[in-house]
This record gives sequence, structure tokens and C-alpha cells, in this order.
Amino acid sequence: MAEVETASEAPVLEVEDLKKHFPIQSGMLKRTIGHVYAVDGVSFSVGRGKTLGLVGESGCGKSTVGRTAMRLLEPTDGKIKVSGTDVTNLSKTELRPYRRQMQIIFQDPFSSLNPRMTAGEIVKEPLYIHNIGDDAEREEMTKALFDRVGLRQSQMQNYPHQFSGGQRQRIGIARALALNPSLIVGDEPVSALDVSIQAQVINLMMDLQEERDMAYLFIAHDLAVVEHISDEVAVMYLGRIVEKADKKTLFTNPLHPYTEALLSAAPIPDPTIRREKKILQGDVPSPINPPKGCHFHTRCPYAEERCKVEEPVLQNKGNGHIVACHLR
Ligand code: SF4
Repeated sequence: MAEVETASEAPVLEVEDLKKHFPIQSGMLKRTIGHVYAVDGVSFSVGRGKTLGLVGESGCGKSTVGRTAMRLLEPTDGKIKVSGTDVTNLSKTELRPYRRQMQIIFQDPFSSLNPRMTAGEIVKEPLYIHNIGDDAEREEMTKALFDRVGLRQSQMQNYPHQFSGGQRQRIGIARALALNPSLIVGDEPVSALDVSIQAQVINLMMDLQEERDMAYLFIAHDLAVVEHISDEVAVMYLGRIVEKADKKTLFTNPLHPYTEALLSAAPIPDPTIRREKKILQGDVPSPINPPKGCHFHTRCPYAEERCKVEEPVLQNKGNGHIVACHLR
């Protein structure tokens, strides 16, 4: 089995100017008549043992970023590096050892688990695929994974429909852990769970991160969840990152008007604290035909003429706090 060579101190995952445009085809000849600009020039990195939270409204492209960064979707353009190695153009075979390093947990654990396989088979399957251990060793590894994620070994014989939502997400986590990855992409991993169960699953993920020094790319629309688990947070709007900063800076000193609006709409657990609500007008524009200039100008309360024609670039405001806005 080929092992991944890692450049020392290199981030576990780096993406540079990543783009994913989906063609829109029409007619018998399937002519391309346009594109959905789902991801349109996104750059970030995630260091070993760190969590980058990726937030934004639904349809902003955050899930597509996660899947494209793992090359579950082929990028239209840009560069993807895993532990310092450019994997953007590697063949499927060449990609295999890197795939092993990167695992994904999906939002809906029910539809992401094969209903005809037992929970034990589901968790064990990646070990078969990557030819790790013999039957007895795989069985022992699977038992240990069940123990670690808080499931009983006797539940290995059960099928996904026999578990609760939280337990199914634990199966998804155990399966992701089987290959001992250095990065897990969590694609809204707790959004479908009750709030009390969300906290248990998040706490499990944080404990596992500390034990295994794993990195997370944590994709969510719920800011409270992202605030809890992240070291850094990136805010996406219509296929682009509009602001990124360490968690504390982003939550206490948001600079982009879109981040301000998202934060003002998030509930605060302390009833004595009041926050001025900045309600966003209108819907998110279509990624097929995004507004010219600043993508956010159709909803921004501060928009000026310049915003309609000139695209703001990301600027560093110090300490890695970057923002794309003409006025900030
Ligand atoms: Fe608003 Fe203009 Fe800043 Fe865009 S560039 S966020 S429209 S003020």
C-alpha cells in the first residue's frame, strides 16, 4: 500500500482559486447553454489538528467546495494540495493514498448509509477497499471503532434503520475514522439532528480531533455550531469567500456586511444581550447569473454605484483577517 509523503508543516489541505462550474445543457444535442458558477475562486488551507468552519446560506456553494476539495467532484480550475502534494490532476489510482487521508461525513446519515449492509459491514468496508489487515484484524478494528464512537459491539449486526439519527451519524463517524484520516470534511454533519444530539456528536468530534490530531473542514449554516468547533471561519456568498478570520475575530468584529447580517440573525443564548437585527432583503441571486461587481450588492444596505460594477478583492486587514468589500 502506497503511503502519502508529507511535506513537513504543510497544511493537511490547501485549495487555491478553486472553481467548480456545472454546465447547463439543453436539447437533443445537449448543447451547453450556460453554467452554474457554484464555486468561483475559493482559496483556503486547513492545518493539522485545526478546524476551518465554512458557513453561508444554502446554495452558496459550501458543500460543493467540500466535495471538490476531496475530488469527489472534478474541479473546473484551481489547485488542490494534500499535505503539500498537488493532487489536482492525479489519476484515480494515483489519488488512492490521498483519498485515504481525506474522509467525509454527510448531513443525512440515513441516506448516506447503505440500507442493505449491517452497521459493522459499513464501518469495515473502507478497510476492505484499501486492503488493510486480514479478516480477524478488520473485525477487531471495527469493534474498537464501535467502542470509540459510543456504540455497542452487539449493534454491529443491526441495519441502519434500526438506529436513531444520532447513532447513524456515529456509524458515519466510525466509518470515516476507519482509515485513520488526517482530514475529515463534515458536510452539515449535525444539521439533521436534534439540538441535544447535535451537542453529543460535536463533542465526540472534538474529542476525536484532540486524540488523533485530525483536521476538519466543517461545513454548516448554523453559526452557533461553527463557533463551537472552529479555529477559523470562512463565510461564503454565491461561490466565493467574502470574509475569513480566526473564530474570535470573526464573531466579535465582523467586517463584511453579509457576515454582519448572518451574525445578527443568529440567536444568542444569553437573554440579557440584545443585538440589532440586520434583516437581509431579497433572496440569494442565482449562481447561473450572479450580479456583476460585488455579488452581494443586490442585498447590501451599504451598496454604492462602484459596488455594481467593480468586484471587490479579498484584502488582509491584519492577523489573517481577510474581507472582500470596497468600504471595509
Ligand atoms: Fe456591500 Fe459594496 Fe461592500 Fe459589496 S462591496 S459588501 S455591495 S458595501
